[in-house]
Amino acid sequence: MEVPFHRPYITEEEIEGVIESLRAGWLTMGPKTIQFERAFGEYVGAPQAVAVNSCTAALHLALRAIGLQPGDEVLVPTTTFVASAEVVGYFGARPVLVDIEPETHLMDVRKMEEKITPRTRAVIPVHYGGQPCDMDEIMALAEQHRLAVIEDAAHSLPAWYKGRIIGNIGHITAFSFYATKTLATGEGGMATTAREDWADQMRVLRLHGISKDAWKRYTAAGSWRYDVIENGYKYNTTDLNAALGLAQLRKVEWMWQERKRIARRYDAAFAGEKGLIPYQVKSDRVSAWHLYPLRLRLEALTIDRDAVAEALKARGVSISVHFIPLYHFSYYRRNGYSAEGYPQSEWVFERTLSLPIFPGMRDEEIDYVIEAVLSILRSAYR
Ligand SMILES: *Cc1c(COP(=O)(O)O)cnc(C)c1O
Repeated sequence: MEVPFHRPYITEEEIEGVIESLRAGWLTMGPKTIQFERAFGEYVGAPQAVAVNSCTAALHLALRAIGLQPGDEVLVPTTTFVASAEVVGYFGARPVLVDIEPETHLMDVRKMEEKITPRTRAVIPVHYGGQPCDMDEIMALAEQHRLAVIEDAAHSLPAWYKGRIIGNIGHITAFSFYATKTLATGEGGMATTAREDWADQMRVLRLHGISKDAWKRYTAAGSWRYDVIENGYKYNTTDLNAALGLAQLRKVEWMWQERKRIARRYDAAFAGEKGLIPYQVKSDRVSAWHLYPLRLRLEALTIDRDAVAEALKARGVSISVHFIPLYHFSYYRRNGYSAEGYPQSEWVFERTLSLPIFPGMRDEEIDYVIEAVLSILRSAYR
């Protein structure tokens, strides 16, 4: 059997939505985008939602909105996708990496506090795999040190922190609708915030800095005249993506239930297995289960993570690794970053891989993955 790492969950509803947009003749940003923003903001309890073409764009615009300057520092966990840090580099500012907690793979708040300097301007907590970070502690530190909190919520739609859905806790929250994410439109992203002025600024910046609602210039109500009030970007989304997003949003909780069911199946099958270290979700939060981390107890095994990954691949099970700590990459090494001071990130990286977990995963596929993992481990015990 071949089990893919991910399979998008696209039904007639998504297809109909896109066809409707095509028939309406709106190919780029238009009425469906507005509709998607409203529905999304409502779902995550955010007064403002700004649709863009990626989470990376949302993070970039968020840092523009808070006025990040060259020479500023932004705290970013080591163990994330490079997008969380690269956006800081766009400003000539410096991402300052923070070690993670070994149990949850979330940014360690105590270590975050140690890294705050007079230059620190913002923090980008990453809700790893869909588990929310320690937001109360992060917000308190941010208030104390006047930092902006830009949540990287690429994994966490939907996820809950102390009963509160992710999307309205930090100053700005950035979501991803990339093909493999929990709401997928191919490419896409959203920035949510309570600050209307920041939302307006992000709306202007996402379309070349052209004054607000310029897309209306193609409607009867619009005019050919517009102004450019900022140096902006081409970060707008399209109504085709928004149509996909609207259809996906209607099933977002059902898709989450599916991933949760798979996570429970894995948890039950792997419980007590001596070659594994269970991944922990803190009791006051609910994960979106974008990822299912499998953590090897290397001390019990004669093989390492890479060998387990190879053996799974040989059996047709596609896996991935989330994430290679950023200081491993040559660009970061060239710029003075190293593993020194990040023992927990190294520990996690050496023993973790991600198993397939996606809505529509068939029971026999789940069973097959479980069987493959257990038989590989059990043939490699010391
Ligand atoms: C996928 C991802 C991003 C980037 O999302 P895009 O929509 O592809 O720009 C950012 N951060 C994390 C943690 C991600 O996994």
